[in-house]
Amino acid sequence: MGTRILIIEDEVKFARFVEMELTYEGYSVTKAYDGRTGLELAEGEQFDLILLDVMLPGLNGLEVLRRIRRFSEVPIIMLTARDSVMDKVSGLDLGADDYITKPFAIEELLARIRAALRKQSRSPDGNVLTAGLLRLDPARRQVTYDGTPIDLTKREFDVLQYLLENKGIVVSRDALLENVWGFDFDGQTNAVDVYIRFLRSKIDEVFGIQLISTVRGVGYVIRDDD
Ligand code: CA
Repeated sequence: MGTRILIIEDEVKFARFVEMELTYEGYSVTKAYDGRTGLELAEGEQFDLILLDVMLPGLNGLEVLRRIRRFSEVPIIMLTARDSVMDKVSGLDLGADDYITKPFAIEELLARIRAALRKQSRSPDGNVLTAGLLRLDPARRQVTYDGTPIDLTKREFDVLQYLLENKGIVVSRDALLENVWGFDFDGQTNAVDVYIRFLRSKIDEVFGIQLISTVRGVGYVIRDDD
């Protein structure tokens, strides 16, 4: 069996259209028309990727996302309504890998699916990354500062990991978007700045350090000062 994709979407015609296109591309597709059924399928079967609508009857998409993340790191792309910034931020914060705004061109969806699958298949690097007293363990997905655990969301963790992998190098917003979000946003989002703020509030402000430096007009860098 090929790559398995689960679509959780209550608009039946739309779900069938996406299924048809994905099947044509060679994916094996399963559909659920409500959140509860989708959640049960995600629990009971192995999928390589999930497309998850935010606006669902009963159990909404964000709640389904939250529950799936309790047991699975399967790549999830959220389908959001136009301009619902809150849905996007909440979705990413709850561990979605990407989102796409409806209506979208099928080519864009296919590109995002390929990017999410690529990112997933990248073999996990077991090396622990450090900067001063900060320690990030990619295999265990743990971050500590001087031994104190820091609780990060999936996205915050991925941003921090990428900065640490490039320690001493100024990383541009575009590079972060491409490597962490897995898709070129054409600079139309301030998602990177939002996540840098989240990281600073959880690390810099808590431990009284300056871990992540802003290089005006260029991007961000973590320097090892010890
Ligand atoms: Ca819907």
